[in-house]
Amino acid sequence: LADAIQRLVQHLARLPGVGEKTAMRLAFHLVRGPKSYVSELARALLDVVEKVQLCSICTNVTEEDPCAVCADARREGSAICVVSSPSDVIAIDQGGHFRGKYHVLHGVLSPLEGIGPEDLRIAELLRRLEPAGVVEEVIIATAANVEGEATAMYLSRLVKPLGVKVSRIASGIPVGGELEYADQATIAKALGARTPM
Ligand SMILES: [Zn+2]
Repeated sequence: LADAIQRLVQHLARLPGVGEKTAMRLAFHLVRGPKSYVSELARALLDVVEKVQLCSICTNVTEEDPCAVCADARREGSAICVVSSPSDVIAIDQGGHFRGKYHVLHGVLSPLEGIGPEDLRIAELLRRLEPAGVVEEVIIATAANVEGEATAMYLSRLVKPLGVKVSRIASGIPVGGELEYADQATIAKALGARTPM
């Protein structure tokens, strides 16, 4: 393989869900494709790196800090919905049933993958609960799988002593399912029927 292609394959193979074979297929696709598309793709990648940052409040990805949700005074500051990824914010917010704020953990606890509490944006969440009385409820919307449940339990133990109500979205979300694959009706039901932890 040409050096440049080999390097591209190596980088593509590091993406989640992309193995060596898929990486190679993608690389050859790019080599064959129109040069203009490849330049635009490269520019889009650079733009993401240069322009996108994490919101200093909710740690969601954003071009403006604070992000549009945090800056929106019409949204209730008394409820924070905790999710594992930015795509979950999109999934929940599209339904328009939740009018509070969000907090993005950027992952879930996973001892098998070596992901501990310090790898998630938990300290930032706890900071948002001070001073006491502003945030009244933390709704944990991590997935209903082993890692998601463990993360919810961990957070509940940290947040409850601060005098903040902690609830968990109902299991209308299929077990092991991810929010981003759930339909709007399911998400609305899961939020509405949340249970105290
Ligand atoms: Zn924000």
